[in-house]
Amino acid sequence: MKRSTGQDRKITSNWRSATQAVRGGTWRSEMGETSEAIFMTSGYSYDDAETPADRFAGKIPGMTYSRTANPSVQMLEERIALMEGAEACRCQASGMGAMSSVMLCQLSAGDHMVIAKAAFGPTRWVTDNLLPRFGIEVTAVDGRDLNQWQDAIKDNTKLFFFETPANPTMDLVDIAEVSKIAHARGIRVVVDNAFASVALQRPLDHGADVVAYAATKLMDGSGRTLAGAIAGDAQFINTILHPYTRNTGNVLSPFNAWVVLKGLETLELRAKAQAAAALDLGAWLETRLPRVLHPGLASHPQHDLVKKQMYAAGSIFSFEVDGGREQAMKLLNALQLIDISNNIGDTKTLMTHPASTTHSSISPATRAEMGVSEGMLRISVGLEDVQDLKDDLDAAMKSVGL
Ligand SMILES: *Cc1c(COP(=O)(O)O)cnc(C)c1O
Repeated sequence: MKRSTGQDRKITSNWRSATQAVRGGTWRSEMGETSEAIFMTSGYSYDDAETPADRFAGKIPGMTYSRTANPSVQMLEERIALMEGAEACRCQASGMGAMSSVMLCQLSAGDHMVIAKAAFGPTRWVTDNLLPRFGIEVTAVDGRDLNQWQDAIKDNTKLFFFETPANPTMDLVDIAEVSKIAHARGIRVVVDNAFASVALQRPLDHGADVVAYAATKLMDGSGRTLAGAIAGDAQFINTILHPYTRNTGNVLSPFNAWVVLKGLETLELRAKAQAAAALDLGAWLETRLPRVLHPGLASHPQHDLVKKQMYAAGSIFSFEVDGGREQAMKLLNALQLIDISNNIGDTKTLMTHPASTTHSSISPATRAEMGVSEGMLRISVGLEDVQDLKDDLDAAMKSVGL
C-alpha cells in the first residue's frame, strides 16, 4: 500500500481543502486503482508471530483489527482531517455516535458542560437524560448570547458544545468569541458542523478545538449512509477519543466510509450550489410568508455573523406558517416534488415538521424554549432547478390558502 499524501500517520499537506476532498488520505494498493478500495475485513493476518506483537505494542504501524483501524476508514479519517486543517480525525458509526462519543470520551462524574439550547434533538436527549445519569452536570444556554456562556462557567466546566447554524431555528454562535471565553478558563470547544460542512464553515480556523460531524448529511450528500466523524488535535483524538472508540466499538463500516469518501469529492460543488439555491428560495419565500429563518437573508438578526465566519449560509433553513401544526402538515401533504423527509444535506430537496419529528423526543417546554414552534417547517434544499422548487411550494401554499 502506498499513500499519495505522505508518511505513516503524519497528516500534512499543503493542498487546499477542495484538492484534499478529491485526493487527501488516498492509499493505493499495488493494483494502482484510481478509486479508493473498500477493505471489507474485520481482521488482518501476519507473516510471523513477532509482527502482531510489535503492532499491539505500538512499536510498528499496521492494522490489527477493524475496531481499532481499517484502511478504508483511515483513508476517510485522513481526508477529513486534511480538509478541516485538523491534526487527526476518528470516524464513528453515525452522527449521534460522534456527538455522544465526543462528550462521553472526555467527561467524568462531577464534570460540567455547557451546551447551546438550539441543538439536534437526540443531542439534547444525551445532554438532558443520559449525562445526568452518570453525574455529569449540563447547563443549556442561549448560544447567541456571549454573556450566558460566560456566566455558565463553573470551576468544573470542561466542555462547551454548540451547533452553528443550529437545527432547526438557524441560530448562529460566534465561534471565535465563544472559543475565547472558553480558552480563558481552559475549557474545550466542540462544534457540530453538520449544517454547514467544511465547504462553508471551518470552525477550527475560528478557534474551536474539535469539530464533530454527522457525515450522514452533506458529506455523503446523497442520503445513502449514516456516518460520523470527529476531528481535532492529535492529542485529543489519539489519546482521549481513540481509546474510548476502540474499546466501546462505535466504529464506522469500511463500506460506509467508502461512500462518504466518494461523497467528499463533490462536497464543495454541492454545498455551494445548494447554498445558493437555498438563498434564492428563502428570499422568494420571504415575500410570501411572515417569518423565514435564513441566516443568509438580511432579515436574520445574526446576518453579520455569516459574513464573519461562513462562506455562505448553507442549504437548510426554516420558516413558519400561520395556523400551527395543522396548517404545517397540510402544506407538507400538498407538495408534489419536494419530499416529506426529516433528513438533510441530500441532493433531493426535503421538508419536515421539526416539532413532530426531529425534535419530538424533547419536551414541549424545551422545544418552546428553543423556539421550535408548531407552525415551523424546515427545508433542506437539493440540486433540483430552483424554479421547480418555487413552483411546487407556490402550488402547495395556494392549495392550503397561504
Ligand atoms: C443528523 C444530525 C446529527 C446526527 O447524525 P446521525 O448520523 O443521524 O446520527 C447530529 N447533529 C446534527 C446537526 C445533525 O443534523
